Amino acid sequence: MGFLGFGGRRRAASSSHSSTAGAASPPPPRDPTPEEALALLKAGNEAFVNGRSQLGHVTADDLAGLQDGQKPFAVIVGCADSRTPPTILFNQGLGRLFIVRVAGNTVDRRGLASIVYAVRNLGCPLVVVMGHTGCGAVAAAEAVVDGKTELDPSLEEMIVPIIPAVLTARRTRRNDIAVAAVEENARRVAAKLHTSDTSLQQAVDEGRLMIVACVKELHSGRVRFLD
Ligand SMILES: [Zn+2]
Repeated sequence: MGFLGFGGRRRAASSSHSSTAGAASPPPPRDPTPEEALALLKAGNEAFVNGRSQLGHVTADDLAGLQDGQKPFAVIVGCADSRTPPTILFNQGLGRLFIVRVAGNTVDRRGLASIVYAVRNLGCPLVVVMGHTGCGAVAAAEAVVDGKTELDPSLEEMIVPIIPAVLTARRTRRNDIAVAAVEENARRVAAKLHTSDTSLQQAVDEGRLMIVACVKELHSGRVRFLD
């Protein structure tokens, strides 16, 4: 109910501001398939990149339709970087995205529990692991791998989980190794999620869940989904 109510509010808000704004992201269907959820994110990012974002119309009033619960259509595992807010990049307002952010977009046990909760208890059909070019956490892992710096104990929990991705990128790619490390890190985190919890694995096997990786281009804001 709150889910659909939110969509209605968004439509009403956009029509009253139609002279200054473009098309709103379409309201999510009640129970989107993984493919539909992915299409919503791609359309939302397209709107952001093309300057047709609608988040200027998201207000506290939009919370009224969400008081009975939430039904976000996607989990975003993102970097804490201030330039990568998923709600803005995907042009999605209140109640639509369930977001876990930590520098380097890796997932620890508590992050995993949050993702499982969103999939199992809230019915999220899509998990997206989003890296970004120019990621400081990945650069820090590269610096350690290259022997340019010692591993800072205070940053160990951020850096160490990224190191395997950096090593793989160095082994498999000759060009753009910084971008390759970012891509590999996102891919690796997404791949690990498939097997990190039986309920996620089961949801994927049954076609109720898709787990994908993507990279946000720092300059353009475009989100590129990886194979
Ligand atoms: Zn980052």
